[in-house]
Amino acid sequence: SEEAGLTFASLAEDALADEKGCIHSSIFPHLHALPPVPVVAVAVGIILHAPFSFLYHWHYACKLAPGYARIDHWSRRLDHSFIHVISACMSYGTSGSWDYFLANLMFNADCIYRQFKPRVRPRMNKIRILISIIAYTIPILRRGETVLFCELWAIFALCGWLFAKYPIGGYSHSAFHAVIALAPPLLMQAACHLLASKEQIQVAARCAVLAGK
Ligand SMILES: [Zn+2]
Repeated sequence: SEEAGLTFASLAEDALADEKGCIHSSIFPHLHALPPVPVVAVAVGIILHAPFSFLYHWHYACKLAPGYARIDHWSRRLDHSFIHVISACMSYGTSGSWDYFLANLMFNADCIYRQFKPRVRPRMNKIRILISIIAYTIPILRRGETVLFCELWAIFALCGWLFAKYPIGGYSHSAFHAVIALAPPLLMQAACHLLASKEQIQVAARCAVLAGK
């Protein structure tokens, strides 16, 4: 009925945003407005990869014998593919440019396509991940955010060392994952500094003031 339609519309409005773009949510009282798209892009990349990383590490990486059987497995290939999904998303998160995202998307899509070729090429896979990370961190350097760029690369260098050299034995790979978890907050900072994020941050600030917080 019309009445039910109206009620649903007002409910949806309540849950999403009002005409000023403000969110009034009792579950997330500090979420005054939707986050800027570049920040969402960083989150989306991480969220999409997480289930495949879990599936591989939590189940198959423990069950499969080390070596070719493990890296050849479909769960490892999917984990790898979604690392490239992260890289593609990050390229928008650090640049705020759809053109730059498109270029990165094409490169990462090619990397994903190669994950489904019969032969696994571990060295080439690592080089391609490295290129994809360089590509999404370069916009940060170009904008002159040198400190943020160096912080990210200090993290990636430490991760590379833990991943390749196993300096603390069996703990090395877990340490690698713990250290790489430091990168997304920094990437979100980079996303917040973009011109593409400015307007939505101002909306959120206005909403916070209106809400009296
Ligand atoms: Zn791992």
